[in-house]
Amino acid sequence: MMQTLNLVDGVWIPAQTGETFDVLDPATDEVVARVPNGGRADAVAAIEAAARAQPRWRSTTADHRAAILWRLAASMRTQTDRLARLMTREQGKPLAEARGEIAYAASFFEWAAEEGKRLHGEVIPAPTSDKRIMVLRQPVGVTAAITPWNFPAAMITRKLGPALAAGCTMVVKPAEQTPLSALALAELAVDAGVPPGVLNVVTGDPEAIGAAFLEHPAVRVLSFTGSTEVGQHLVARSAQTLTRLSLELGGHAPFIVFDDADLDAAVAGAIASKFRNAGQTCISPNRFLVHHAVHDEFCARMLEACAMLRSGPGCEEGVTTGPLIDDAAVAKVKAHVDDAVARGAVLRCGGEAVRPAAGLTPRFFAPTLLEGVDGSMRLSHEETFGPVVGVREFSDEAEAVAIANDTPYGLAAYFYTRDHARVWRVAEALEYGIVGVNDGAPSTARAPFGGMKHSGMGREGGRWVMDEYTEIKYVSWGLG
Ligand code: ADP
Repeated sequence: MMQTLNLVDGVWIPAQTGETFDVLDPATDEVVARVPNGGRADAVAAIEAAARAQPRWRSTTADHRAAILWRLAASMRTQTDRLARLMTREQGKPLAEARGEIAYAASFFEWAAEEGKRLHGEVIPAPTSDKRIMVLRQPVGVTAAITPWNFPAAMITRKLGPALAAGCTMVVKPAEQTPLSALALAELAVDAGVPPGVLNVVTGDPEAIGAAFLEHPAVRVLSFTGSTEVGQHLVARSAQTLTRLSLELGGHAPFIVFDDADLDAAVAGAIASKFRNAGQTCISPNRFLVHHAVHDEFCARMLEACAMLRSGPGCEEGVTTGPLIDDAAVAKVKAHVDDAVARGAVLRCGGEAVRPAAGLTPRFFAPTLLEGVDGSMRLSHEETFGPVVGVREFSDEAEAVAIANDTPYGLAAYFYTRDHARVWRVAEALEYGIVGVNDGAPSTARAPFGGMKHSGMGREGGRWVMDEYTEIKYVSWGLG
């Protein structure tokens, strides 16, 4: 049972043109399903449904909305296996990771449900005795979300949870590679009691749907997760309507290993953060900076750890590394590796994509370790988005921090050390929104996730996410 229609105003419908597009399994290129190829008219219908549903939804209590979100999270947890299998088919990640993502995705509903109850206002002492000043936090209204394919469920729930909890309605446009997880979530939302129009999902043409989101005056916030290029395009397009944007864009994370690091922990953290989702995460380390005193030992242990990874289709037991999402992704990762080797890096393992068995696509990029990386190479400047560890040596702390900050991106950074004073110095010096200290897996619904510089604006998670979906209103009350 698979939902393959759009949800608009509580009704499951095809695109207005009747057109569809294919959703492919990246491991086999089999057609998993056909979904509506929606466009501007479908997006407008969804926005208008969300606008009609808005007054009633915002007037419900936070407790009422929380109860629905908790029911929705509970049904995700009960149906983890079905949702994870669907995700693996359209996205390719190993089933264990897909199950983990469903739990992570549900946690955003649970967290937001409770944060929605804490949208406290304030009473501020007035400058004169005949007035009182009040500050209210109110839902912004209709919101829209554009989400990527790398986390087909969690990138939706981290937006949808807080929006709904705050009293906003939403239209979601999932990535064209992974619409089925979005539609499955929408089905569970309807069953959990999300009223018609409060959540709408429109699959289809990104440019046309994105334009409708930014041109329609009812949409007050557009939350986007994806590439920096598309983020910049949306910022430019938002100039006319001044639609508020929340942007989570690309990253280029440094992973620094100091000479006093616990190397076992550093290797475990490197493997977990680098190879999750075959390196296709925005907080994936892209630059490994390793102190020369521990360089050889770190590389030797990484080589051993890479040999333990197993590439294959995500639905197979024991597989740790699934296919990359498409041929363009494979070509980019390969180009980064070839460029590094041409400029003098040494390939210790991997280096190319393989076809693990007949009937599978040749998109399984082998876990790759490169030594001798320097600042001239593409992988030192661009997000690789693949399972490639490129190691560069450094000699002192100031040099490592300078290299780490020498990028327009500022999403996540990692470092390993046992020196407490250095923890503070380096954590404060890194120009990144998220810093993992002896921690390769910092993501959680209860902490603020987001970047500096070209990695975006706004924060998702923690109490901060509620700022994205609320307006602050100041009421000045004369006592007469
Ligand atoms: P990636 O390179 O990871 O696929 P993208 O930024 O291209 O990242 O995609 C992230 C999301 O942005 C997807 O839902 C995609 O459909 C959407 N998208 C791509 N191009 C546009 C656009 N011009 N306007 C609005 N959304 C877009």
